[in-house]
Amino acid sequence: MRVKVRIRCKQCGERFVLRGKREKGRIETGFKQCLCSNENDFEIEEDHL
Ligand SMILES: [Zn+2]
Repeated sequence: MRVKVRIRCKQCGERFVLRGKREKGRIETGFKQCLCSNENDFEIEEDHL
């Protein structure tokens, strides 16, 4: 299932919009970390395409 994912960094407020896919209950986007090196502290919203 293809999804659009909105990610907001809770540390610096940077936003990202990515295409990804949902697999086995998790979302695969290839997103690794924010520009500020934050890797874990995000708000994630998912839109179904
Ligand atoms: Zn950040």
